[in-house]
Amino acid sequence: MASVKPPKHVRAVLVALQGRGYPAYLAGGCVRDMLLGVRAQSWDICTGAQPEQIAEVFPDACRPGARSGVVTVLIDSHEVSVTSFRSSSPEPGSGEPDLVRFIGDLTADLSRRDFTMNAIALSADGMLADPFGGVGDIRRQLIRCVGVPEERFAEDPLRMFRALRYSARLGFTVDLFTMEGIRARASLAAELPAESVRDELEKTLLTRSPETVYSLVELGLLTAYLLPAPPDPVLLHRLALLPRRAQYRWAGLCHVLLTAGSISSPERFLSLLKLDHHTIRMAEDCCEMLASELPQSDLNKKRWLRRYGVETVRCALSCRDAFTGGQESLELRRILKSGECFSLKHLAVSGSDLLALGLHGRAAGEMLDFLLEYVMEYPGNNRRELLLSLAAGTEE
Ligand code: ATP
Ligand code: MG
Repeated sequence: MASVKPPKHVRAVLVALQGRGYPAYLAGGCVRDMLLGVRAQSWDICTGAQPEQIAEVFPDACRPGARSGVVTVLIDSHEVSVTSFRSSSPEPGSGEPDLVRFIGDLTADLSRRDFTMNAIALSADGMLADPFGGVGDIRRQLIRCVGVPEERFAEDPLRMFRALRYSARLGFTVDLFTMEGIRARASLAAELPAESVRDELEKTLLTRSPETVYSLVELGLLTAYLLPAPPDPVLLHRLALLPRRAQYRWAGLCHVLLTAGSISSPERFLSLLKLDHHTIRMAEDCCEMLASELPQSDLNKKRWLRRYGVETVRCALSCRDAFTGGQESLELRRILKSGECFSLKHLAVSGSDLLALGLHGRAAGEMLDFLLEYVMEYPGNNRRELLLSLAAGTEE
């Protein structure tokens, strides 16, 4: 199996903890990613040291992490998160030798993790601890719960979303019993905070397999947010052709859901999921553009740019291209490159110019609109003198 080594600064943290007598391991996603031969997104260490003891080992380089029991160590301007084993120590006076105790702690820590591939630990000297067969599952490209799936999903229903998200990201299969566990516990998904569902859904949308959203729907994990009509998996698959930008993928998803009748409006769906105002607005505008006829003339394309803004039009045309195989994004690029004016910002005259001509308030606004429409139709005429005389002449 492919394997990459942890970077020097990560090894330094492991060695420093071990040097003070605390067992310390890399664990979770970084070990999985190392075994897969891909760059880990973050480095997580689990250790027998308590948070105060971790702070003693790195007195000038650590701060409390976002979750309790997690300490962020800053080393060579890199962050490494160090978490105390999430298990209670053996009973005082139980007479257990140290070795048994620390192995016990590590195994207990790993047993609380979600999937076998995420429950592997690696020591500084390269020894793997793999009590649940995670290495074999990575080899078989299998996502399998640590322990009994139904119990693990009942403990934390978010794990159901995580299973599918990992399958979308890594191209792994969800093990049969794990899948049965999801089916059995799907109804618990409705109890999850919308923000957590949103974050998982967004990460899934941003993978190369956004059609996994279909499985989420089919398994019943999104019933709190969707109407019963299922979306088209082929269209969902096409979301992978969009740039890897969250707003684009949300907008594309809304179009697919709206077309299928799975949602009544992007606004309602995305508000339920607690998306931000900007993303909601963009998705609404994109869906509106996708539902209307594509402007054929440059003038009408510029009218879209004026009305919706460059980024939103770019997003809508990327979606259209993804769904239809068209090349409208290239057309847009051509228009933008031409430098032709489609916004008041680039008009050769401003409100204060009109004020000097004695136009103010509503009359000035209407004149600016008129001039903008005029230069959109005659791009070569976006010249100050010409527009001023036009404004003055109309005024007379
Ligand atoms: P990513 O690369 O997406 O960050 P990751 O595996 O590092 O993947 P995290 O969400 O950062 O995932 O979590 C780190 C580790 O913590 C996981 O690998 C897993 O061992 C454990 N973990 C995280 N969330 C859960 C959960 N809900 N239930 C059990 N274990 C979890
Ligand atoms: Mg992580």
